[in-house]
Amino acid sequence: MSWDPFAEAERRNIRVERVDLTGAGVRGLCIAGADVILLDAALDTSDARAVLAHELEHHRSGGTDVACCVPAAVRAADERWCDRQAVRRLVQADELAAFLDECAAIGGVVTVPAVAERFAVPAWVAAVSIELHRAA
Ligand SMILES: [Zn+2]
Repeated sequence: MSWDPFAEAERRNIRVERVDLTGAGVRGLCIAGADVILLDAALDTSDARAVLAHELEHHRSGGTDVACCVPAAVRAADERWCDRQAVRRLVQADELAAFLDECAAIGGVVTVPAVAERFAVPAWVAAVSIELHRAA
């Protein structure tokens, strides 16, 4: 069974709320002090899982929204780190390797949409998972 970020939020006593974040410039928000994660109500199932996985990483690392007090470059690195951690949990390395082997065995070409469909994740998650696999 693949990892479920909603179950993890529940286990960690983090309340997940779907709210309208239109115009906020973000798709999710972690309010660590209150143990609340907000997800944009407009996200579909796979995007909601991916955004929640990302926000759970913010929560783990202290989670305050640091946009106002750290340089943009540091913040961007933090965002990338959270993205990669989220991708590693949504698309487990061994399961991806097995899937890529299966594709190769039947002479198929690995594509981002194929990985996205197999793991029920958004295209950006699939793309990063393939990148991480190739870099490993
Ligand atoms: Zn973030």
